Amino acid sequence: MRLVLLGLPGAGKGTQAKRIAEKYHLTAISTGEMLREAAKEKDTFGLRVQEYMNKGELVPDEWINSLVKSRLQEKDVENGFVLDGYPRTLQQAKMLEAYLQSQNQNLDAVFFLDVSQDTLRHRLAQRGNLRSKEKQGNSQIESKREKIRLDDKPEVIENRLHINKELMESLIHFYKERNLLYVINGEGDFDNVFDNINEGLLSVNK
Ligand code: ADP
Repeated sequence: MRLVLLGLPGAGKGTQAKRIAEKYHLTAISTGEMLREAAKEKDTFGLRVQEYMNKGELVPDEWINSLVKSRLQEKDVENGFVLDGYPRTLQQAKMLEAYLQSQNQNLDAVFFLDVSQDTLRHRLAQRGNLRSKEKQGNSQIESKREKIRLDDKPEVIENRLHINKELMESLIHFYKERNLLYVINGEGDFDNVFDNINEGLLSVNK
């Protein structure tokens, strides 16, 4: 299976992508994680990526397209994938479509995790709070360290939501036209949302 998870920042794509990948033996590909790894290198490319991410802006399509294209050529992707955080623009969606077509492949389904703006703000602010508590040395949240991100600051959160909202509408339209779109209620807890996705997947396989 080749799947895409769409959702605004805070919709829970990362968590769900990992669960789907595990259950269906697919490879989860998160462009956010790929970019955070690239940024760690602190070379010219990494530093520029970090600048975009710090502002909550998208990195240029050409950069992310070429990263994704080479990732899709790796061996572990042969049996299927679930993409998290990609595509985010129409240009990216078109590149993905063209690339898959060139390989005689296609997407099986696109799940949009539908979550209200209020819930998104709340979830992202909680991630941000964890971060500032950690700075004060709270050991209880030590285990959540990996979830803490520099772009979960209030001003950056607003920017991420704003930038992605309109783009999301165009992506939804793009995949609806291709009959690939499944709208998933993403409001509940992670188990609930996972159940909703699994229900959607049952109809994909029919
Ligand atoms: P979120 O969706 O919660 O913002 P991600 O981890 O998916 O988090 O992405 C973090 C950042 O990485 C984004 O704000 C953006 O700067 C960059 N990024 C991730 N995926 C893409 C993409 N497909 N195109 C452009 N930029 C991206």
